Amino acid sequence: MLDAKVAELLNAQVNKEFYSAYLYLDFANYYVDQGLDGFANWYKIQAQEERDHAMLFMQYMQNNGCKVSLDAIDKPDKILDSFEAPLKAGYEHEQYVTSLIYAIYDAADAAKDFRTMQFLDWFVKEQGEEETNAEGLIKKFELFGSDPRALYLLDGELASRVYSAPSLVL
Ligand code: MG
Repeated sequence: MLDAKVAELLNAQVNKEFYSAYLYLDFANYYVDQGLDGFANWYKIQAQEERDHAMLFMQYMQNNGCKVSLDAIDKPDKILDSFEAPLKAGYEHEQYVTSLIYAIYDAADAAKDFRTMQFLDWFVKEQGEEETNAEGLIKKFELFGSDPRALYLLDGELASRVYSAPSLVL
């Protein structure tokens, strides 16, 4: 069994990861409505990754004898009023998720729960990549987004993203 505080935070993270998937589906839907199918594809795949994260947290808890309790998922509430708005909201959201992962790490450290710290190492690295990707999208959009032809090419680049399963296997 895991430390009670650590288990509580891991369980909360399951919900946060499903919320992330929901949020990115909302972004994908926005871009579908705008006719930017490449941006939509990028966020649909992002949503699949977030679902994977939720499943990994659940599996880790279950591997350690913890009961998982599924809570209601919040409605996505970011205001999507420009092509750039989801990109900025996504970057902010990933920074928030990083802070959540760090808080679980902190609790695991305080409980001398080295197993959970080792499990979380993958997520610490993953969050670094998520933030870099999200920030990179903003930079590209700021460089090219105001030119329709460049935006068309950027949309094409994002259309080529394919899903790959997480490298962490439990
Ligand atoms: Mg995630």
